[in-house]
Amino acid sequence: MKIWIDGRIVSPDEARISVLDHGLLYGDGVFEGIRLYGRRVFRLDDHLARLAHGASILGIALPGGVERLREIVLETARAFGRDEGYVRLLVTRGVGALGVDPTSCSDPAIVCIADEVRLFAADKLATGLDLVTASGRRPGPDVLDPRVKSLNYLNSVLAKQEARRQGADDALLLNAQGHVAEASVANVFVVRRGAIATPPPTDGGLEGITRDTVLKLAAAAGIPASERTLGRADVLMADEVFLTGTGARVVPVRSLDGRLIGKGTAGPVTERLAAAFSRFVLEPGSGVAY
Ligand code: PMP
Repeated sequence: MKIWIDGRIVSPDEARISVLDHGLLYGDGVFEGIRLYGRRVFRLDDHLARLAHGASILGIALPGGVERLREIVLETARAFGRDEGYVRLLVTRGVGALGVDPTSCSDPAIVCIADEVRLFAADKLATGLDLVTASGRRPGPDVLDPRVKSLNYLNSVLAKQEARRQGADDALLLNAQGHVAEASVANVFVVRRGAIATPPPTDGGLEGITRDTVLKLAAAAGIPASERTLGRADVLMADEVFLTGTGARVVPVRSLDGRLIGKGTAGPVTERLAAAFSRFVLEPGSGVAY
């Protein structure tokens, strides 16, 4: 693992951040999880744009702007030195007085971590994930805008914990209306009669970069795709369901709340899109070389 902090690359035991940083005190900040594929940072500029939008919504000025963050990610990836990996970029509100008021925080902190990728076990990727519907709902855009990938991930943490306690792999999160929002850290797609559908981000999911890539790959492959509101029943009645995310990539879902989806194995549309995704991430245009 390599970590960029305070202008230099250090090891994990040297990387320190203040206990008075509002990122720690209030989850006040934004982050990105980014993949390294074939010695390129996958869709780096899209990740940076999402982070910049989130920071702007929170009123956090990016120190040095997006260009500096871009250099930091590339420097961290180079220091890590491997062809494949995972990069976590964080910008926190910075150190300030106790209390939620951010006006005393004048110096946002930047941290960038490069590490090996942690995946679902290989058998899970082949057979599909077991999901349970989380009892807690995903906050809507009227509470916390899902387009802000903020450091406050408790809603996802609790959903994942609930799923693991029940022996499942991940949680399906519904919004306050009972519609499908997303999984704990991944977007949800259903497949029915050869067409794919995923909820619009306004239903409570992040505008995932993997989701966007899959929608483009589906268009290129002539697979009909739509963004529409989905209920839990749409998931249960689907021929196939899969999740997309930086960590998960394109991963099939086998069951929801103990009920098998489709044939209970990875279906042909999921497999086709997962294969197209695996090819795409190695194309030179898909990322920035380091
Ligand atoms: N939803 C949430 C809540 C996430 O944290 C993530 C992971 N960033 C995703 C969806 C998937 O987004 P992406 O494909 O950009 O990783």
